[in-house]
Amino acid sequence: MKNLILKEQHSIGSYRKQPFFISIGNLSFVNKTIAISAKNTRCRRPITVFSGIFILLVISLVSSCATKGVSFVQEQPNATLKIAQLRTQTDDLPVLRTVDLMTGMVYRTYYDAAVEEVTHTFISDMAAMYRELAHLVAADPGLVEWAAVAFIKDSAYVPPRHGREVRWSILIDNSGQLGSAGITDFYQILPHEQVHAVQGTFKPGLPRWFSEGMAEWAGLQVTQRRQPDLAERRRADLRHAYESINGPLDLSAWGGVTVKREAFLRQVTSEQRARIEVDSTYSPPGPFNFSPDDFISDESNTLARYGGSLALFEMLEAAAGHEKMRSWFRAVWQADGRLNTEALISLANEHTGIDLHPWFNR
Ligand SMILES: [Zn+2]
Repeated sequence: MKNLILKEQHSIGSYRKQPFFISIGNLSFVNKTIAISAKNTRCRRPITVFSGIFILLVISLVSSCATKGVSFVQEQPNATLKIAQLRTQTDDLPVLRTVDLMTGMVYRTYYDAAVEEVTHTFISDMAAMYRELAHLVAADPGLVEWAAVAFIKDSAYVPPRHGREVRWSILIDNSGQLGSAGITDFYQILPHEQVHAVQGTFKPGLPRWFSEGMAEWAGLQVTQRRQPDLAERRRADLRHAYESINGPLDLSAWGGVTVKREAFLRQVTSEQRARIEVDSTYSPPGPFNFSPDDFISDESNTLARYGGSLALFEMLEAAAGHEKMRSWFRAVWQADGRLNTEALISLANEHTGIDLHPWFNR
């Protein structure tokens, strides 16, 4: 009888050596020997002794069924994370580098030495969350420059700056678990911020309503599956702020940078200033010099604008469905150059059939 032996080699428990690799996920599969024989395949056939030719035929059938068994076994999910301990930089926390062999995605996880064990338990949760986020926003997770995460016990922790690395902190409480602050960090803020990591990878500089609307919409779906109360509370807060706003929401102006009026006025003559007061269309000739303090970003009605942007994405999903939204997102990632509100509205119309203009007259 022909047996086929499959063996997965993992070196669990050696992660203090440097460098090292371990795989986590479906650990029941680790070092398990799977034997596939004619007895446990559905292709079992009665063997007769009448003919040597017939026996040869049975052996060949068994062999072909065993091959089918191999492909089934290899489809076991989750045994796909490869984790390496990287060399720690001076004055920084220890860091793990995770590669998801299923998607090619890579991310870094820092940790306080005191919370090393709990950090390992969250690494596969992060892989699952990131895969979901990437699917929701139609991005290839293997191409995203995911933000790093630090599991820390000190709420005043400030990550050192390493080049362009963005690092989010997850607070571990005194019992060594996620307390309520850590739960919000990990299940609500992290998914939201990782949507910004996707945007930063493929299309930086998107208008605020789009980047925050997408981050709330996709992030909260990931939150919802793990901490439904948290997601519902956030949705209720945003909906309340949006529905109770007095005055215009002006979504397209959100985050727009303008020069402070006084920075402009201090550089004109008294005659020009007098003319500006009576004629709003008058623009005195430059040049003008501005310092960084002279600029102001429109951050008014922030919570209501988060709420309005989320409502816009939720309306699109209800009216057009997720697949059409994904096709809109793909078009956004692939577009050339910077996209302003008008360009995003036009792509939305093309891919979802919905005109978003009314949302920008509120
Ligand atoms: Zn955001």
